[in-house]
Amino acid sequence: MEKRLFYLAVLFFLIASKVSGSEVAIGVFAYQGERAAASDWLPVIRYLNHALPDHHFRLDQYDAAGLRQAIGENRVDLVITNPGYYVTMEVEFGISRIATLDTEDSHPARALGSVVLARADQPRLQYLSDLAGKRVAAVAPEAFGGYLVAAREMLGQGVDPESDLKEVHFVGLPMSRIIEAVQRGDVDAGIVRACLPEQMVSQGAIRLEDFRILSRHQDADFPCALSTRLYPNWPIAVTRQTDPVLAKAVARALLAMPVSGGMSWAVPADYQPVQDLFRELRIGPYAYLREITPEGLIRRFWPWLLGLLAILTGWIIHTVRVEHQVYRRTAELRESLAARDQAEAKMRESQEQMEHLSRLSVLGELSGNLAHELNQPLTTIGTYARTVLRRQEIGNLTPEAISEASTEIAKEAERAGGIVQRIRHFARKRLATREPVSLPEIADEARRLIVGMLARAPEVIIENRLTSSCQVLADGAQIQQVFLNLIKNAIDANRDLPIERQNLRILIEPLDKRVAVHVIDQGVGLDAGQLPHLFEPFFTTKPDGLGLGLPICKTIIEAHGGRLWAEPNQDAQGMCFSFSLPCHELSA
Ligand code: ADP
Repeated sequence: MEKRLFYLAVLFFLIASKVSGSEVAIGVFAYQGERAAASDWLPVIRYLNHALPDHHFRLDQYDAAGLRQAIGENRVDLVITNPGYYVTMEVEFGISRIATLDTEDSHPARALGSVVLARADQPRLQYLSDLAGKRVAAVAPEAFGGYLVAAREMLGQGVDPESDLKEVHFVGLPMSRIIEAVQRGDVDAGIVRACLPEQMVSQGAIRLEDFRILSRHQDADFPCALSTRLYPNWPIAVTRQTDPVLAKAVARALLAMPVSGGMSWAVPADYQPVQDLFRELRIGPYAYLREITPEGLIRRFWPWLLGLLAILTGWIIHTVRVEHQVYRRTAELRESLAARDQAEAKMRESQEQMEHLSRLSVLGELSGNLAHELNQPLTTIGTYARTVLRRQEIGNLTPEAISEASTEIAKEAERAGGIVQRIRHFARKRLATREPVSLPEIADEARRLIVGMLARAPEVIIENRLTSSCQVLADGAQIQQVFLNLIKNAIDANRDLPIERQNLRILIEPLDKRVAVHVIDQGVGLDAGQLPHLFEPFFTTKPDGLGLGLPICKTIIEAHGGRLWAEPNQDAQGMCFSFSLPCHELSA
């Protein structure tokens, strides 16, 4: 008895599980409303219930959001939806097609397309590319055949449907509303699924000649006019949770389904064209392409980024190389500049050395006369001192005599001191400077120095013809050196003349914007053969000459931006040595 009860319970449990296990929910996207969907898919439900009697197939109708939620919550075993939502759900929930709808008049892989209609009296609307700036009507932004398919073609023809159209009216279903809006002129063009115009014509609702189909073309596998390419028909798909045995049984049954209500099922089509559409429009699974996140940008632009990175790397390498070269060349330049500075400093030093030597040589030549010069005050001092001593010896030393002798001794000592001081100042080694100088004053100093040193000095006349004040920036001592050399040479050239013709003239006059100085003698002069060698170092006609005076003078004058030259006197004997110097500031 107990055993029998147990077997009954097991049997009841098996029957119960069989009944609950046989309920199969088919979620269908009811885009045209529930009644339409129910009647559309009725032949399929009927067929499946008949072909697989162990199961009870039920039609659950959803809008797009509802279907997505039902799949997510595992409330459906099979899904029938349009290609667009199928691809989206495939990516999101891993649903997988087992068959594609096959209608009588088209190929399952080439079954859905759109037409874009305009009124025939709008001659400017011929192609989808003419839609820029126009008003367009469509079903809904996510409607596959009612908008997306055409949007992709527009983008391909250079019109971005999101930004280049004047406006898009999404008017919903039925699609006939769109054709009516175009007819009324409410919009310039309308997007509807292919074959709708032909259907409406056959129903007598419109006349085809009133409309123009933009970018119109025909397809051999398709009975109606098209504005777009064709896409695969609706698929039926299983979810990840669907029992594989059931999936296999349903697939087998559907493929064997005879044409019923104009529809049958074919092997699953390739939905890659739908993926491509989403990618191009950057929607659905490819919406991330719009996100401006680093990840989205990288996923979208990685080939460009790679190129950019390559360019950037190249640029960095180039910049580093250029920087390195610039650094190297700058270092080289700095080195060569330092070497030049060093060479210049050396030259300056040797010039100063030469100048100093030249001074010493002038001094040497004048030293005989200098001794004589110093001798005079010393002799006078000695004479006065001896006179005082003698008068003291004979007892004749009056206070007046002491006072007179002391005064004279002091005066002569001062004179001798002055001579020594001048020589020391002249012979001192010094650095070149630039400061405002007066040429007449320097000429006068040079004259006094020479005359002071020579026992028998000729008369040196200085003639200043400068009327405007011209400021010469120079090293006074160096210019004095030039005057000394020229005066000494002139005195040497005059030496053998009668005393009344030994006079020299120094003429200072303006010359353009410069000052010219001429030292004129009436001496022996030079013959034409000697003249070209005058400024060459070591050219001398004197037995004790060095031949350095004039080259040094030339160097000094040129270092001051001036010029030194010599010419025989025009209508008299002797030479004229001249130099000119620039005026730093010229005022009337
Ligand atoms: P140095 O006086 O030691 O010979 P310089 O360079 O001063 O060296 O002069 C070179 C030569 O130029 C002199 O030897 C002389 O022949 C000639 N010279 C210079 N000044 C005159 C002048 N005023 N008249 C004639 N010859 C001159």
